[in-house]
Amino acid sequence: MILLKQLEVQLEALNTASLRRRRRTADSACVPRVTVDGNPVLAFCSNDYLGLAAHPQIIAALQQGAQLYGAGSGASHLISGHSRAHALLEERLAEFMSPHLESARALYFCTGYMANLAILSGLAAVSSAKTVIFSESLNHASLIDGARLSRAQVQVYPHGDVLALKGMLEASTAATKIVVTDSVFSMDGNLAPLPALLALSEKHDAWLVVDDAHGFGALGEEGRGVLEHFNLRSPNLIYMGTLGKAAGVGGAFVAAHATVIDWLLQKSRPYIYTTAAPPALAHALLTSLDIIQGEEGRARRAHLHNLIAQLRADLHLTRWSLMPSMTAIQPVLVGDNATAMRAAASLYEQGLWVPAIRPPTVPDGTARLRITLSAAHSADDVACLLDALNTLESD
Ligand SMILES: *Cc1c(COP(=O)(O)O)cnc(C)c1O
Repeated sequence: MILLKQLEVQLEALNTASLRRRRRTADSACVPRVTVDGNPVLAFCSNDYLGLAAHPQIIAALQQGAQLYGAGSGASHLISGHSRAHALLEERLAEFMSPHLESARALYFCTGYMANLAILSGLAAVSSAKTVIFSESLNHASLIDGARLSRAQVQVYPHGDVLALKGMLEASTAATKIVVTDSVFSMDGNLAPLPALLALSEKHDAWLVVDDAHGFGALGEEGRGVLEHFNLRSPNLIYMGTLGKAAGVGGAFVAAHATVIDWLLQKSRPYIYTTAAPPALAHALLTSLDIIQGEEGRARRAHLHNLIAQLRADLHLTRWSLMPSMTAIQPVLVGDNATAMRAAASLYEQGLWVPAIRPPTVPDGTARLRITLSAAHSADDVACLLDALNTLESD
């Protein structure tokens, strides 16, 4: 059949370019010493930054949630799938984020991908013809797809370039302006210049949509993420935090002024036309938030930051380079796809799981080893990775 042949030819081309993606299958919970395809490895690849994905109290809460609310929600939120657990979680999240938002309200989503589709398509639903989305060039795929779904005009500004964005906003006559950015860039680990972006957005009466997938729980004294880190508060802010990364469970939320949330509830198709996540997840997330906000969360964030400092101090690279980052994402820039793949394969043979990230996820010629650290790692775990990397690079 000619259609299958087309696919086979394209798959073979991906192979040749070292771009064919494959999965490994984990046989245990997401922990640093994970069992993969039957073998134990030391993993530096999850986004479980606080080490909560296998936390006994959260597992117990998930079990209790299933006892209380059952396995599935049975319907979308607007039909009959919105449970007490979802409602309580949204109240907690709104309260948690309220230092940074005026009249804060929160909306829980099945995934961050869907939350981003919902924010951008929902905001543009006021009038897609009169909306312009100003999108940072390194934004996550879900924001790019959300902008496409919105059918608004999209203007991409160069990475971190506040001046370029300023020029674009000044030139724009759009009735609705939306600036959208990752807070922590997922393949680089660096932070967006949010204070400057917010000042510009306020000046030009634009929404500032902040995707804090890698900041929520991990950044800020109390774990409220990047808005706490930079001490920002504004009615222009629309905040998206994911709950499957540092929060260790799954789903995501949008927090913003109550009017924005009510609008999304009316108009966002990715919110309306999908079955609500199992309520047990929302129930488990209440425990996750208790931990994030409490003493334990504080201690876990402090330990994580010590590990980041250890890695940055003791990694000695000459051909490759450690990218500038103060977050749990610590990528080593290698460059060439095949070299990055070989490096990842060699580490894996030594029992160390560090993923190689290639185009199109990152720009051509910037393939990298993406190390992620977690509060579940020990200083010895990090020392083990450092030994292997320092040796590998000098071979
Ligand atoms: C992971 C991620 C998302 C998507 O969140 P999910 O809950 O995994 O769907 C969105 N934006 C960024 C920057 C991410 O890293």
